[in-house]
Amino acid sequence: MSSYQHILIACDYSVQSLQVALKAKTLAEQQQAKLSLLHVLDNIAMPDTAYGTVISLDKTSDNWHLEQEKNKLAEFAQQLEIPQGNCWLIWGLPKQEIVQLAQEQAVDLIVVGSHGRHGLALLLGSTANAVLHHAKCDVLAVRLQDD
Ligand code: AMP
Repeated sequence: MSSYQHILIACDYSVQSLQVALKAKTLAEQQQAKLSLLHVLDNIAMPDTAYGTVISLDKTSDNWHLEQEKNKLAEFAQQLEIPQGNCWLIWGLPKQEIVQLAQEQAVDLIVVGSHGRHGLALLLGSTANAVLHHAKCDVLAVRLQDD
């Protein structure tokens, strides 16, 4: 099996997201792969724009909320020693944005939790399921127990 070059962690800040991310970090170290981190902002009203889902974080009316989100991502990234340049905060639907960013950034492994905020009652959460179906690269769904 050839080694992975670029691993993307999809993080939703659910309780077990650090566990998912640490697994990705270990894998990246073993494979000497680049490690990137993505959080998709799906709970804030999408600004009216014709420029798709990626919006400059400085050009929005809700700067306070965005600053909080940026800080949260920076703190999470710091725990994993992921450089700022490898961190992504994107507006939109998680399942779409994860797959799209992976393609744009030549990611060859996406790491998600088996379930997160949307899929507590499911064996495989809806985001993980959609990413598995639509990603062009490999996907690792880290099995998470409910407790
Ligand atoms: P869910 O489908 O909500 O149960 O989530 C399954 C997994 O998809 C999570 O463990 C994350 O890895 C990923 N995920 C869900 N929502 C997001 C989000 N807003 N941003 C990034 N990744 C997400």
